[in-house]
Amino acid sequence: MESSNPHAVIVSSPGVGHLVRDIELGNRLVADHNFRVTFFVVLEDQATVGESQLIQSAKAQKLLDIVQLPPVDLSGQLQPNTPTFTRLTAVMREISETLRSAISALKPTPIALVVDIFGTPVLDVADEFHMLKYVFVSSAWPLALMLYAPILDKEVEGEYVDQKEPIKLPGCMPVRPQDVVSPMMDRTKQEYHSFLQVGSKIRKSDGVLVNTWEDLDAATLNAMRSEEESYGSAPIYAVGPLIRSVGPPASRSQLLDWLDEQPVESVLYIAFGSLGVLSAQQITELASGLELSQQRFIWVLHPPSKKDVSADRGDNALAYLPDGFLERTHNLGLVVTQWAPQSDILRHPSTGGFLSHCGWNSSLESILSGVPIIAWPLYAEQKMNATMLAEEVGVAVRPKVAPTKGVVGREEIEMMVRKVMEGQEGKAMRGRVRELKISGEKALTEGGSSFTAVSQLAKQCVMNSSQR
Ligand code: UDP
Repeated sequence: MESSNPHAVIVSSPGVGHLVRDIELGNRLVADHNFRVTFFVVLEDQATVGESQLIQSAKAQKLLDIVQLPPVDLSGQLQPNTPTFTRLTAVMREISETLRSAISALKPTPIALVVDIFGTPVLDVADEFHMLKYVFVSSAWPLALMLYAPILDKEVEGEYVDQKEPIKLPGCMPVRPQDVVSPMMDRTKQEYHSFLQVGSKIRKSDGVLVNTWEDLDAATLNAMRSEEESYGSAPIYAVGPLIRSVGPPASRSQLLDWLDEQPVESVLYIAFGSLGVLSAQQITELASGLELSQQRFIWVLHPPSKKDVSADRGDNALAYLPDGFLERTHNLGLVVTQWAPQSDILRHPSTGGFLSHCGWNSSLESILSGVPIIAWPLYAEQKMNATMLAEEVGVAVRPKVAPTKGVVGREEIEMMVRKVMEGQEGKAMRGRVRELKISGEKALTEGGSSFTAVSQLAKQCVMNSSQR
């Protein structure tokens, strides 16, 4: 018998950052809006530690029907240095056939297909099954840039990064040329064309879900809704802030035990996401700046960028720290080289600051934990996120020179750490971030803006299914 619950399919592209928010979206659709969700996980290889933890805990929650598709290995077709945007859209294109047969086995045919930013190549499969098609993206401002990019492509001459003036987006904050997203850095590359294609596909979708909320991004969201000629006519749903929910603890990390022993808001957490790496010189400066600041810390350290990996030290991340650093700081902090329980660390009362690459999940996790940020953007849309957090929202400080442009020196690092952890500016940011935490949580509760947006989306799905 046909269930009256709307049935949606979510396809999550490879990478922890996508998986974490796609799972949360699915959980919300099921728990709060009576959807049934079949959730397809796409991997490039064996699941990483982070990916398998997320899949396991989603399975334990039993809200989603999780289907892991066979890993897609394109190493024979792509160069090892193929940039992320091109690589992941190629991976998602490759799964079209597998997804088609998986969806045809679902009876009755689901109403809606939701993909993330790299999943637009499989939206054609939704058309074949007369399903509604939605794209779930991270933050609003980079989305505006992406939707407007086809127009910029016609209007702007030369490279975006070489423009003398900020790039104007109708109704939105302008984008500084140096902040444009990675795929727009070089217009001669395939990456740029993949980016434009994804923007065009999003414009043709039945709706865009954004992991933000009305109070945080009002101006940008309103501009995208009212300036149809600039941004297209796909409805924009602000459905966030969706971050990893507190799951059953598999085993309690020693990092949390250590945090239990530290004073309230005294620890700086330092991490650069699942892929972020620093140069060897930057690792030295960061370590020295931390030591000068004499603040407590937890640092998730990865080996440096490939060009800096030396034969004698190899992949041993700790070997890139200055001599004696671990001994001198053993009373102050911990350096870990494994996957860390980031959202639990940020939620812990002893954590008082986050030196972050400003991936959108990390930014939201910090805001929802009431923790101010030292913004250290590295790639993708992180520079735009950092600018917004520092200049619009007022919850972050950042170095004078972008970390992608040069090495941030130890004195500046010491100064930023002190500012956030013990200065007046840190206090003000902490106050602001707490207001945002409250407003974000409110958006998700019944009657809140994001809850209502998902209810509207659910209505659209149900109406569509009754017309089929
Ligand atoms: N993460 C984690 N432990 C780590 C590194 C990352 O739990 O050691 C999680 C982090 O909490 C976040 C996600 O991985 O939920 C990273 O997403 P984000 O968008 O911040 O960055 P990305 O990795 O996509 O660049």
